[in-house]
Amino acid sequence: MRRAVCSIANRKSQIGNGRRADNLKYSASIGLEVHVQLKTKSKIFCGCRNEFGGEPNSFVCPICLGYPGSLPAVNEDAIRRTVLTGLMLGSRIGEYSKFDRKSYFYPDMPKNYQISQYDKPLCIGGKVEIDVDGRTKVVGITRIHLEEDVGKNMHFETSSGIDFNRAGTPLMEIVSEPDMESADEAFAFLLALKQILVYGDISDCNLEQGNMRCDVNCSVRPEGQKELGTKTEIKNMNTFKGVHRALKYEIQRQIDELTKGGKIVQETRRWDDELGATTSMRSKEYAHDYRYFPEPDLMPVVISREQVEAWRKQLPELPQARHERFVKQYGIPEYDAGVLVADKAVADYYEATAKLCGNFKAVSNWVMTDTLRMLTEKGMDIRDIKVAPKALAALIQLVDDKTLNMPTAREVYAILFEKGGDPAAMVKEKGLAQVSDSGAIEAVVDQAIAANPKSVDDYKAGKVAALQFLVGQVMRLSKGKANPPMAMEMLKKKLG
Ligand SMILES: [Zn+2]
Repeated sequence: MRRAVCSIANRKSQIGNGRRADNLKYSASIGLEVHVQLKTKSKIFCGCRNEFGGEPNSFVCPICLGYPGSLPAVNEDAIRRTVLTGLMLGSRIGEYSKFDRKSYFYPDMPKNYQISQYDKPLCIGGKVEIDVDGRTKVVGITRIHLEEDVGKNMHFETSSGIDFNRAGTPLMEIVSEPDMESADEAFAFLLALKQILVYGDISDCNLEQGNMRCDVNCSVRPEGQKELGTKTEIKNMNTFKGVHRALKYEIQRQIDELTKGGKIVQETRRWDDELGATTSMRSKEYAHDYRYFPEPDLMPVVISREQVEAWRKQLPELPQARHERFVKQYGIPEYDAGVLVADKAVADYYEATAKLCGNFKAVSNWVMTDTLRMLTEKGMDIRDIKVAPKALAALIQLVDDKTLNMPTAREVYAILFEKGGDPAAMVKEKGLAQVSDSGAIEAVVDQAIAANPKSVDDYKAGKVAALQFLVGQVMRLSKGKANPPMAMEMLKKKLG
């Protein structure tokens, strides 16, 4: 694991009061507050559709618009998904939980408070395991609570508007302990968390649609010092890469500031992606600034142990467990399992195909190479692929029983990828089957020998590469249909 110890040894600069900063090393502490939109059908406190991309203000009602006198009611599925997340992260599920009002004076929340949870969150504690540079590290989770998302400010050339479709989307906030020590660790944490949430079907975690956003807390302190340094917060980061870049910048900025003899001010900063820098936004709010008080319109949430156990039964297999099972059940290498399991939809596709095809390694080879490459080239999601698991299984079967050689199989795959269909029918229709009939191959081999006397001489003179060239010619003359090992054997025999 890469320790975030940023060495400033050998720095020659003098610091403010004349002390030298030579050989001082700093450690960083990073905590994340990750906001995740839950994929419930309806919003958290009303029956409006919870959907991305509708006409502005088309999924709204008096409750999510914050009209006075409207009454919220909790969506049970939002509670269930939050509890499931807690169970996946090993949290304790609070038996008694409640909602609070958090003062919030911005136009995207006209009722001037956000319904959130303050001292009684749904889930307490937990952990996420991350891998950085080949080592595993545990990052603690402080709490997970539930709140409502706000509307979205939209700015046009001469006016501004607010789209309230997003207002009232169930928003789960996962707060980590300040256990991460580098930008790499924070990045790994976000990736691991996203993977778990997608596996659990908690959220789509689509970053482009703002399903997952985070606030980043960061401080540095001289190595060896126990208490944490003064932290700054970078708000509203919506890409993992942005978090990584912002942290790299912010850690170095704080170290530079301290090295100069300056002080870190507790404040909220904004990451400017184009500038590649964080800039001061406002002084940090403290909990008392939010003037939390219990939400009088909502009953406390009491979840029985029986209910928690019933929900626990809905837990899916998590990525780590699936990885281990793939290695064991399908006998594929660790590396393959890692690539396949990284994306749940890819793992599902692999498994659906493997179940139809006994050649498990061949399936993983196809998926890891041609499938993933073509999906990336086309910018497609595997859920939209036209090659059905049944078709890929059939194609592998055609290769295994030597009806197709690999180059032809890959051509067939490319057609399947474009149009879908049944590979066996395609082979029949286009006459693609490999020619393994020795008489037919012999005729082509003779042609290749007659047409390439120089290569024949080269091979006879001991140049092995000439044989490969002649096999290539046989393949070309047979339009790719000759069985390559048979062609090679025959060439060897004829050339002595
Ligand atoms: Zn509504």
